[in-house]
Amino acid sequence: MNKCPYCNTSYNEILQTGFVGCRHCYEEIEELKKAVEELYQGKKHKGKKVNNGNF
Ligand SMILES: [Zn+2]
Repeated sequence: MNKCPYCNTSYNEILQTGFVGCRHCYEEIEELKKAVEELYQGKKHKGKKVNNGNF
């Protein structure tokens, strides 16, 4: 879905304004969800699990 059924905000509108209509937008608008996830992953430290070799 490219539009939030709760507040009727479309992904393009969010791109233009920079604001989501409501908190459901993150869940309902798939493009936004993906974008947020990618952003979040990009900022997050790519944590490699450090294995010290102690078995
Ligand atoms: Zn919404």
